[in-house]
Amino acid sequence: MRTLSLLAGLFFAASAVADEASWSAPHAPYQITDNIYNVGTAGISVYLITTPKGHILLDGATQAGAAIVETNIQRLGFKLKDIKYLIENHAHSDHVGGLAQLKKDTGATFIASKADRYGLEHGILDSDANWTDTFTPIKVDKTIDDGKELILGGVHLQAIITPGHTKGCTSWLTESQDKGVLRRVIFVCSLTTAGNSLSLVGNKLYPSIATDFRNSFARLKQVKADVVLSGHPEATNLEQKYLAQVNGKKDAFVNPDELLNLVTKAEEKFEEELKQQQESKP
Ligand SMILES: [Zn+2]
Repeated sequence: MRTLSLLAGLFFAASAVADEASWSAPHAPYQITDNIYNVGTAGISVYLITTPKGHILLDGATQAGAAIVETNIQRLGFKLKDIKYLIENHAHSDHVGGLAQLKKDTGATFIASKADRYGLEHGILDSDANWTDTFTPIKVDKTIDDGKELILGGVHLQAIITPGHTKGCTSWLTESQDKGVLRRVIFVCSLTTAGNSLSLVGNKLYPSIATDFRNSFARLKQVKADVVLSGHPEATNLEQKYLAQVNGKKDAFVNPDELLNLVTKAEEKFEEELKQQQESKP
């Protein structure tokens, strides 16, 4: 079993390397609902949530991806200086590596969960992880607790802390008008063990990692959403949906069954991975 889990780790490392080029490669920005846009790179989604009182940006992609995000925001006709808040899904370099630059260029207030704060402000993975990557630290201006809302210009974004992937992994839930229909939209935090695939058992820096994952799966199974948006586009087939929309499909991003399916699959993979690690670390 030890060999199997080592192989799984190597496979992760190999696939991560293969994906990395897309994380900092350009992609056209596109609209999802009336006031939600993907302004990210080809391999990392970054979401702009607009309001009449200024805007909110969720994540910043990689350090090299920040320039792409900025160009995409401007291509849509929005101004960087109108971004009032920066928020994050989780403190891994592929999603927050660009935030230091974006904070400098927007002057926005950065809000994050208490449990991700240390990792964000030190630019490190705050866990015994098999993926060691650092990023430019970003100062957290304000923290947000589980269940609390960030409110701006009539938009309410509720923080649902769903730890596991990182200690403070945060999903955000909101309602958004979509061509005359009100949709519940969730920006779901990563649910995979990527970065932790050898560290679910005996993680000294993050002892509660396995329990946290299980609680987050249970929690998210109770949430209802019409539109599910992920930080890695492939997790919710965003590219296919985007292309379907370009080809004239209506409501291409709407799928009320998607969240439960995503969580159920992630939970199955997690339990398999945990079992392997428990068997290889008696
Ligand atoms: Zn991650």
